[in-house]
Amino acid sequence: LYRAAGEDRNNSMGANLANDETLATLAREINAALKPVSAMPLVPGAAASGATVPVTNPADRRERVGEYLAADTATVEKALANAIAAQPGWDRTPAASRALILEHAADLLEQRLPQYIAICVKEAGKSLAASVAEVREAVDFLRYYAMQARKLLAQPEKLPGPTGESNELWLHGRGAFVCISPWNFPLAIFIGQVAAALAAGNSVLAKPAEQTTLTAFLATQLLHEAGVPKDVLQLLPGDGATVGAALTRDPRVAGVCFTGSTETAWAINRALAARNAPIATLIAETGGQNALIADSSALPEQLVKDAMTSAFDSAGQRCSAARVLFVQADIADKVVAMLAGAMDELAVGDPALLSTDVGPVIDEDARKVLAEHAARMDREAKLIKEVKLPEATAHGCFFAPRAYELSSLSQLTREVFGPVLHVVRYQASELDKVLADINATGYGLTLGIHSRIDATVEKIASTVRVGNCYVNRNQVGAVVGVQPFGGEGLSGTGPKAGGPHYLLRFVTERTVTVNT
Ligand code: GLU
Repeated sequence: LYRAAGEDRNNSMGANLANDETLATLAREINAALKPVSAMPLVPGAAASGATVPVTNPADRRERVGEYLAADTATVEKALANAIAAQPGWDRTPAASRALILEHAADLLEQRLPQYIAICVKEAGKSLAASVAEVREAVDFLRYYAMQARKLLAQPEKLPGPTGESNELWLHGRGAFVCISPWNFPLAIFIGQVAAALAAGNSVLAKPAEQTTLTAFLATQLLHEAGVPKDVLQLLPGDGATVGAALTRDPRVAGVCFTGSTETAWAINRALAARNAPIATLIAETGGQNALIADSSALPEQLVKDAMTSAFDSAGQRCSAARVLFVQADIADKVVAMLAGAMDELAVGDPALLSTDVGPVIDEDARKVLAEHAARMDREAKLIKEVKLPEATAHGCFFAPRAYELSSLSQLTREVFGPVLHVVRYQASELDKVLADINATGYGLTLGIHSRIDATVEKIASTVRVGNCYVNRNQVGAVVGVQPFGGEGLSGTGPKAGGPHYLLRFVTERTVTVNT
């Protein structure tokens, strides 16, 4: 997207690839591209110790995707020492040179699409179309943060010198940054966090979600090949309790960039605050309880199409996904009937097939949490539709997409991270209460509005406190540099990923005054 430094915006890779013929060719290529991956910590000078963890395909647990060696505490210690030693040199590397390295990584990623799409499909269970979009987003992040680094960091900002002095504001990396990334965007968010931290002049300790370690391993190798020094970017596979905890309690860590649950963000915040150390920066992008509000002027066909995408794309495993559709009572029967009909058309199954809409959920734990929620909804709400799972899903972690009608939002006590849409009817006179209820969840990530009445759109958009508001379209798939992404309240700290202020949270500012 950012090949020509912000120009040519419509010529994104996704647009070029997202036609069926190209996807079909890719489908053949990706199946040929993936060999089992053996991953290990990428930490110069560390001994290869630690436990080996097998990785299987969530769509079919009989298929081995590879294995990885988890980092032990000695490896984490070595990585920290390397990161601290390497950071000043990386910070002194001109921002333009750092940007060139990131752009080189983007070129390599584009040249090797099948392998990266394949690993997203096989390790994370993402559909083919979602995996193409994922690689596109990773490329966009690399190019966008490279562009931002040139703009913000390549030279100091000259400030007024009314007394004859010269004043300059310089931006530098903060130090060793920890990037903790999620499994739902194993390539895009991994690369987005790492690219931003590197562009800003930090060294990086990357701790990917255990479920998608192999994708992170391939991405780290690619960044090394593109020219990021091996001690400037180190990969620490492993679980949160060992690797994540060791990193976030260490006083040498200057900042943490995290995407995941609100609960884990609290734990990281507490760990950082408990250190007797300089106060660390925490950038957290967390959960949501995202609403889609449709008044009686909404076009039902468009509403249902967008609700389906927002709720069921990526098996609902996006923090941006619509969880609750508030529909005005006048059109509710029609919309609910159309929704049930549209769900009948959902193809659930092998994400490697072009025809699949909804793949598996990430693992058995996720499936169990969703099943518990569904059991409660079966008792307390009205089932609108449960999609029948085909037999071919028997060996994977599949969860049948469902829709329930609730009497109020208070029936949902926490984020439901999967393919479940909840519908709540409201009368026109109850709109204020609906908006207050949404704000009362404390989350503030995405909001969808379907209405043809400008005053209603304006009222809803200005009342509900969210980071990303989408009107008369779906509410997922924010585009880097076009729809900066991230929420407020319980949904995160900001700044927004893929936005013009993101890099600024990764830097420290230094003013240099010279008596000339
Ligand atoms: N940026 C993604 C979107 O707009 C969501 C990221 C996430 O789920 O963490 O859909």
